[in-house]
Amino acid sequence: MSIHSELQTEGQRLVIEPARVNGDLMPARSAINAALIGMPRGSFGPEAEEPQSTTFTQLLETADLGPFTATGLAPAIRALRAIVTDISLELPDLYSRLGCAEMLACRKVRGSTSIISNHSWGIAIDLTIDGRGTTDGNDEVMAALAELWPVFNRHGFWWGYGYGVQDATHFEASDGLVRSWAEAGLLGAPADIVLPRALAFGDRGPAVLELQVALNAALKPLRIVEDGLFGPDTRMAVFALQREAGLPPTGAAPKPVLAALGLV
Ligand SMILES: [Zn+2]
Repeated sequence: MSIHSELQTEGQRLVIEPARVNGDLMPARSAINAALIGMPRGSFGPEAEEPQSTTFTQLLETADLGPFTATGLAPAIRALRAIVTDISLELPDLYSRLGCAEMLACRKVRGSTSIISNHSWGIAIDLTIDGRGTTDGNDEVMAALAELWPVFNRHGFWWGYGYGVQDATHFEASDGLVRSWAEAGLLGAPADIVLPRALAFGDRGPAVLELQVALNAALKPLRIVEDGLFGPDTRMAVFALQREAGLPPTGAAPKPVLAALGLV
């Protein structure tokens, strides 16, 4: 089944299943970004701040991409150039309606006190459609994003709709795309660096939400917030599960932990 078949229309209303829309792509992960790209700055607050690390800023690029200008991680800007070129050829009506609300912005995820936003590394972009930066339940904006998403998907970008409709204007380089930049020597990271695949602190997205639901079911009456953000309380719950299951206490969720929860 092609990913495009997930997109259906019901009269004027778009019906897309957020959890499945990104297929096999995983959102970029802060622990992996830190290891492969480096840290943009020392601390992060709720509002956007400038990067401080010169090692990091050397990796940035500003470019006029046609409908908008953006600053971000150089390989992300190059990928966006290819995406925008495809849009100009395949969806010319949408090309001129495109804009950029935010790309590089060092801050926490909105609503979280612990998770760093992927905007911090300049690998995520919030689009505008006709100048609108959010969908606000606007069917025209959502319809435009639904047309754009397959182009981003095939270039390895993860659609924020997987986090929920409030993030539908957000696209970010997937975990696999960031790893491929490192393998191509574009990030200055050592080629032989060993990176964890397990879900861990700082991750977000549908896989984290699935983990939280399973943790709540397994650890009744303990109850953590099911928000798709792998923060301190999720890590505590994983520690508790590992203790009960006789697994090494790491606070991360590799296969044995997922197996103990019946998720693999
Ligand atoms: Zn965003």
